[in-house]
Amino acid sequence: MKVTKKIVLSEHDMPTQWYNIVADMPTKPLPMLHPATKQPIKPEEMEGLFAKALVEQEFSQERYIDIPDEVRDLYRIYRPTPLVRASGLEKALDTPAKIYFKNESVSPVGSHKLNSAIPQAYFNKIQGIKHMTTETGAGQWGSALSIACKHFGLDLKVYMVKISYNQKPYRKSVMQTYGAQVIASPSDTTEVGRRMLAEYPGTAGSLGMAISEAVEVAMTQPDTRYGLGSVLNHVILHQTIIGQEAKKQMEIAGDYPDVVIGCFGGGSNFCGISFPFLRDNFVEGKKTRFIAAEPASCPKLTRGKFEYDFGDSEGFTPLLPMFTLGHDFEPASIHAGGLRYHGAGTIVSQLLKDNLIEATDVNQLDSFKAGVLFAQAEGIIPAPESTHAIAAAIREALKAKEEGSEKVILFNLSGHGLIDMASYDRYFAGELQNYAVSDEEIARNVAKLEKLA
Ligand SMILES: *Cc1c(COP(=O)(O)O)cnc(C)c1O
Repeated sequence: MKVTKKIVLSEHDMPTQWYNIVADMPTKPLPMLHPATKQPIKPEEMEGLFAKALVEQEFSQERYIDIPDEVRDLYRIYRPTPLVRASGLEKALDTPAKIYFKNESVSPVGSHKLNSAIPQAYFNKIQGIKHMTTETGAGQWGSALSIACKHFGLDLKVYMVKISYNQKPYRKSVMQTYGAQVIASPSDTTEVGRRMLAEYPGTAGSLGMAISEAVEVAMTQPDTRYGLGSVLNHVILHQTIIGQEAKKQMEIAGDYPDVVIGCFGGGSNFCGISFPFLRDNFVEGKKTRFIAAEPASCPKLTRGKFEYDFGDSEGFTPLLPMFTLGHDFEPASIHAGGLRYHGAGTIVSQLLKDNLIEATDVNQLDSFKAGVLFAQAEGIIPAPESTHAIAAAIREALKAKEEGSEKVILFNLSGHGLIDMASYDRYFAGELQNYAVSDEEIARNVAKLEKLA
């Protein structure tokens, strides 16, 4: 039997709107709180930090939001992305399950991050903003925002988590090639960075710290705004273009997923592929399962607590009601740098709390093992982050084999790993390890949070 290998859409089939799941959620997320007053934050209080249109999207209850033509023009460079039937992986696993993946690695920067970087730079540009700041972990978000800012004539300062700055020098080169300024965080260029260096000498940095630095600069410099690559509602909104395309493509393939899987850092690619399908559970009574795959060393969804917490380590951001390990949590130095984040975002956290989605964890060695199997079966070397989704998809496919079920599995290939080969080298050399997080450590960090939920 011949299987369809790849389903491509034409440019004309590219979605014209983003999908806002808040409109369809049975329980709406709790409000974000102002970090100082602990009262629900008002949109205008966030406008010093983010472009106005993005703040509007952050609070929007509208089901669909138009994608501006200028944004669609840039999306067209790499979108619609292909949906691929992973027949090589199916064969390698000898599973009756049908496995599909949405290939977001085909974007020029090699990941899904560009889907939000383009609109963020655009909405800042049309408001007359001149400078943006951001943080980056593995460097994927920084790369995406660098080229997006270049397209729209904005300059960009990227605070890059120190461990990634050292482990992934080529991502820094990518950002510099696109014209951004890259600074290892924590740095001595901000007040908060200097404080962190004094408090934790030799720290490898964390996303939380880098966010604090980027936010400080945005709040204190004129015509400057900050851009975040995940977690927030407007970022997740932009990523729903992934799932909307995938829905059309699955329809062409003649299948509908029983399980949808994404790796999970702050939630943007998982939510992006899941939410358009999750809507069918809400309005059409479908019973699709949604699985967020997180690293065992940073287990906010599987072992964290639902509390109000800050998005950064200093408490500059609004308080978000979310599953969190506490903003002081310092994740182990795993190579999936994009998944080293303590929190989860408000929408996805509410959905998990209401048992409408699931979460699973994957340890570092299993994630690389899955990545190598996938590379050899499908020819694409996945980003260390994406290997977590692959590992979870493999688990589901092997379960299907035990059950003799032909279930349909869809996962998001959030990015390729061609700039992460140093990590693969270390895996092959036997230098990588798994990291355990103790219940005490989690409890200790979470206990510090003020109980506001
Ligand atoms: C940033 C990143 C992730 C994690 O971020 P999410 O917001 O959870 O999607 C996953 N995969 C890749 C390739 C990334 O660059």
